[in-house]
Amino acid sequence: KASVMDGDELKDEMLMEAEEDSKPKSALEKLQEERKTLPIYPYREELLSAVRDHQVLIIVGETGSGKTTQIPQYLHEAGYTKVGMIGCTQPRRVAAMSVSARVSQELGVKLGHEVGYSIRFEDCTSEKTVLKYMTDGMLLREFLGEPDLASYSVIMVDEAHERTLSTDILFGLVKDVARFRPDLKLLISSATLDAEKFSDYFDSAPIFKIPGRRYPVEIHYTTAPEADYLDAAIVTALQIHVREPPGDVLIFLTGQEEIETAEEIMKQRTRGLGTKIAELIICPIYANLPTDLQAKIFEPTPEGARKVVLATNIAETSLTIHGIKYVIDPGFVKMKSYNPRTGMESLLVTPISKASANQRAGRSGRTGPGKCYRLYTAYNYQQDLEDNTVPEVQRTNLANVVLSLKSLGIHDLLNFDFMDPPPSEALLKALELLYALGALNKLGELTKVGRRMAEFPLDPMLSKMIVASEKYKCSEEVITIAAMLSIGNSIFYRPKDKQVHADTARMRFHEGNVGDHIALLKIYNDWKSCDYGSMWCFENYVQVRSMKRARDIRDQLEGLLERVEIEATSSLNDLEAIKKSITAGFFPHTGKLQKNGSYRTIKHSQTVYLHPSSGLAQMEPQPRWVVYHELVLTTKEYMRQVTELIPGWLVEIAPHYYQTKDVEDTSTKKMPRGKGHSAAS
Ligand code: ADP
Ligand code: MG
Repeated sequence: KASVMDGDELKDEMLMEAEEDSKPKSALEKLQEERKTLPIYPYREELLSAVRDHQVLIIVGETGSGKTTQIPQYLHEAGYTKVGMIGCTQPRRVAAMSVSARVSQELGVKLGHEVGYSIRFEDCTSEKTVLKYMTDGMLLREFLGEPDLASYSVIMVDEAHERTLSTDILFGLVKDVARFRPDLKLLISSATLDAEKFSDYFDSAPIFKIPGRRYPVEIHYTTAPEADYLDAAIVTALQIHVREPPGDVLIFLTGQEEIETAEEIMKQRTRGLGTKIAELIICPIYANLPTDLQAKIFEPTPEGARKVVLATNIAETSLTIHGIKYVIDPGFVKMKSYNPRTGMESLLVTPISKASANQRAGRSGRTGPGKCYRLYTAYNYQQDLEDNTVPEVQRTNLANVVLSLKSLGIHDLLNFDFMDPPPSEALLKALELLYALGALNKLGELTKVGRRMAEFPLDPMLSKMIVASEKYKCSEEVITIAAMLSIGNSIFYRPKDKQVHADTARMRFHEGNVGDHIALLKIYNDWKSCDYGSMWCFENYVQVRSMKRARDIRDQLEGLLERVEIEATSSLNDLEAIKKSITAGFFPHTGKLQKNGSYRTIKHSQTVYLHPSSGLAQMEPQPRWVVYHELVLTTKEYMRQVTELIPGWLVEIAPHYYQTKDVEDTSTKKMPRGKGHSAAS
């Protein structure tokens, strides 16, 4: 049976093992020995002297060589933390949490003391903290309070090859800070070998290469394209399990839902086989997975068993998982895509780049020769995949960073020192949106509303919704909705054998077709009125953890309300006030019902559909005008989190954006329910 151990049990077990040896070793000693086996260790002194001699250093080393966990410790041991903290940024919050946990173990300290992490809505650091792992987005926010980063002696921008939006903006900011703070050390570390670009950008900074250990990886392609890559991945994993020698399997999937589906199917298929096959331990890992379950992927696989890790792109370079011998790569990733013409953004499952495919394959050859099963053809790989992933700055909505940069006093965005500049169209769109939201004035300067919005670590439309709630006297309700929207889609669970019960419980919050936003509010308030109880969650098929997270986020938003001097006011029964606040933030996201049951976005005439998970998907007749939180593209372009609105509000709330002719209701008769919209998968 698989045993799940917590840190202490693990230590005990290690201690017991140690006692059997002739000279007893503590768990800590063992960890110290392990540190010395990492590829980076022989380069410790050389690295430290390079840091001493150069202000900016580009560090390149393969995933697993020890960059993230070791370099900050080396610098700490060398005394850099006597004058300031060492900050190490990660593109993903799971990585920041997991790596800091590991480093605190290696140092034998409690997480949050000397070693801590800081991610949005969760600060696990203290006065004592000297090694701080954080998301790149958090360091960006720290700039707002401390533009010279005075509390840091070293900044390590890790996983630079990921080129996330925040990392790219950080490049420009830290490069500038380094100029007037000669005492600040800057490390840019990356897992890909094309470091020249980083070096060029940072005024020809030297490149420090850590030779990795790499074993040969055998690549297998499919002979024909796979129609259903999820099924193909599962079948491949099970074949490996019954046919191949020991070694763990890593499957790259695109998101939580897909991972949960795969887990479910794999469990079903292996259950039938009973003891005919060796034990298969299935470990999911994705951003919203609770911390205690995340740790499971690092536990050693018991003798005779095999582990299958179902991971998002997080396992491509951010996390190193031991013992992986087989990689299954369906060739897809979920990415944000942005249409600068319309300003519309959506999440999209897209083919990966060749660079990504090679990183993924490399994960199987870390501890010995590996095998990588690509669920696409060699021709696909050669002809269809792009060489590199387009940096996020070139494919995303820039409103958020433009607002941050404006708050930092950086006005001339067209001349900001981007490593790869975004399309100027996208910059203009961001300025336009911020202007429409009232965050910028006609001259492009930050307004009072904009300054308040910038205080919230949220997308500008959400921040605007909160700032607007002051006027409608419902800030209490609106921050609850913002918190609930921020936890993503992990509110309800739907056990296979109780789907009907779960759906009934869920629909109860939608009574009266109040819309998804108000339903989120009702869920939260219902839970609150039951003393934030777990029993309530259990009865309503709601995830306790998600609710606790929403509560944390809400507490912080409440604190920020006070900071921007918005009074906490409640209008629980005035749904119109709440919906108007939502509209004040999300008026660019509106749709009008079409005859066939689809919607057309009002400003850009794009066809979109109600997401089947929306409470309004059941409404008869369909709502004519809606405001939505976001678009997701699966089989169709779906609106997720949708509320009905009265078109007159748009002209009332955003007269600079909508004119009466945009929102005229031409037909007066009720529209029958369309056929086109319910077939969703
Ligand atoms: P890099 O940043 O160069 O990819 P890391 O510093 O992340 O390398 O990893 C170095 C080693 O530490 C790896 O062998 C990895 O397995 C181990 N490690 C990292 N995080 C954890 C963790 N949370 N639990 C156990 N081992 C870990
Ligand atoms: Mg790393």
